Amino acid sequence: MKKIAYLSLCLFSMITFAQEVSKEKVKDILSTLASDEMKGRKIWTPENENAALYIARLFKENNLEYCTGTSYLIPFEYEGKKAYNVCGIKKGKSEKYLGFSGHFDHIGTSNKAGDNINNGADDDASGITTLIGIADYFKKKKPEFSMVFMAFNGEEEGLLGSQAISEDKNLDKIYNNLTALFNFEMVATVSQWGPNTVYMTGDGFSDLDELVNKNAVNGLKINPDPYARQQLFYRSDNVSFVKKKIIAHSFSTVDMTKASHYHHENDDINIVDFDNMTQIINNFSKTIEKLNPQNFNPKYTDQVKFN
Ligand SMILES: [Zn+2]
Repeated sequence: MKKIAYLSLCLFSMITFAQEVSKEKVKDILSTLASDEMKGRKIWTPENENAALYIARLFKENNLEYCTGTSYLIPFEYEGKKAYNVCGIKKGKSEKYLGFSGHFDHIGTSNKAGDNINNGADDDASGITTLIGIADYFKKKKPEFSMVFMAFNGEEEGLLGSQAISEDKNLDKIYNNLTALFNFEMVATVSQWGPNTVYMTGDGFSDLDELVNKNAVNGLKINPDPYARQQLFYRSDNVSFVKKKIIAHSFSTVDMTKASHYHHENDDINIVDFDNMTQIINNFSKTIEKLNPQNFNPKYTDQVKFN
């Protein structure tokens, strides 16, 4: 009898453990995106396309469906030049969607002697790894909300990819049902509040943070934006969706007052805290798992500017 109890306990812990995204996987994905081979993933380079293809492969591994058409890659044009965003969906019990995004492009290489590759591990391979981690967590699950995962291109050139995909009419059936978009931007380091915490830009503009915190699992905490004066809410990819009056905020851990790696060659995997990232990915996923259209319907306040 004891043996059976022990066995079932083992089995139980194996099952619960199996749902978790492993640190190895987080490390593997982020290290690939931030590798020297990707040469800083600058838009309109072959390496940028390789990054898009790699993300598409991970979307497929995580059983996501196409957002539109016959590919995860969604082309857009800017000044006659073509590039791709990457988009995948997961159908949940409800028609209502939650969105998860980040940008996979970075600023490429510099003319410096020595290490001249801007690997963009924090900016924003960390955000892409986070959304893929969430997709991985839900791989074999049927969540309450449907989910859309978007890897934007051309953020560094002026939010080009998020702007283009937000205006894509083929995705209106998703956008019309999009309850909220979580945009992850620089989440590789431990925030000023310590592990297992992030901050949300534009926290005064909606009650999204309160609603998530109310359901937060394992002590995960969303804090208000301490750098509100920098207006990050209006400067990141989320703003392309704010214009559509969709609830969309960016989530970050970076300390803007001392981020010496920001747009610098040393933004590489050495600055990444993989334990903290893995913890945040798993706890965010478990929190999302508790949300449904009844307990989660965030609204903007009249403080927000839509244009
Ligand atoms: Zn960025």
